[in-house]
Amino acid sequence: MTTPALSVKNLSKIYSENGINAFSDLSFSVKRGEFVSIIGPSRCGKSTLFDILAGVTDQTSGTIEIHEKIATQRKGKFGYMLQNPLLLPWRTVLQNVILGLDILRVSKSECINKAKSVLKKFGLLEFANLYPDSLSGGMKQRVALIRTVLFQKDFLLLDEPFGALDALTRLNCQMWLQDILKKINPTVLFITHDVREAIFLSDTIYVLSPSPGKIIKKFEIEIPRPRQKKYLTSQNAIKLEQEILSILFKEKNL
Ligand code: ADP
Ligand code: MG
Repeated sequence: MTTPALSVKNLSKIYSENGINAFSDLSFSVKRGEFVSIIGPSRCGKSTLFDILAGVTDQTSGTIEIHEKIATQRKGKFGYMLQNPLLLPWRTVLQNVILGLDILRVSKSECINKAKSVLKKFGLLEFANLYPDSLSGGMKQRVALIRTVLFQKDFLLLDEPFGALDALTRLNCQMWLQDILKKINPTVLFITHDVREAIFLSDTIYVLSPSPGKIIKKFEIEIPRPRQKKYLTSQNAIKLEQEILSILFKEKNL
């Protein structure tokens, strides 16, 4: 049996500033290369969980293990795309992508070469010299995602990366994301409000209760990834969607 790449054990968070209990007693494990989605109502603590994993804030109790060792120092292990990623409007796509790389004391030319090769690999090189304002919403999200991927961390934390996009753009971005994942095979934790998106992309889905978030159900999808669009209209996907929606609608505060 393979050992988990990441284990979250009895994790809870109460913000000391305002006493809000973001989530309680979360426990789950993630295998290397697995794609795990987290679905739950607003304010059930999803972004807080990512902040804790990325080391932006501390948990109140519980532990996080990486390859079965307690990992108190986790900075640098997680690539984190925030819910509202910031692209600097005065920097081009290329300059935005290398943001952060330049902090790593890599030479400028090395940064540019690396960023260009990644942009090329994922079909964005032709946008390298454009400014964010001239990009569509979908393109902006792709650029922000590439910036996260560039650091080649073991784990990717993606917080509703396609949440603001229309359905068609979203589907195109999902196909594109699958293509990226096939090439780099990271372990992914993905927050979404969109049940179909979770079903399309994930190996495992955790459904969280309203605040304070607790795992109320785990779904495992055995269909191999990457998946084709037609999977979305298959019996398997439709049945899952109905099941997940009925759980979410049963919960209060939605
Ligand atoms: P979600 O991402 O599921 O919508 P969040 O993790 O953003 O939920 O927030 C969970 C709860 O914690 C909310 O009630 C929110 O107001 C609160 N919260 C989030 N960040 C902070 C913070 N930095 N300080 C205090 N409370 C916070
Ligand atoms: Mg959030």
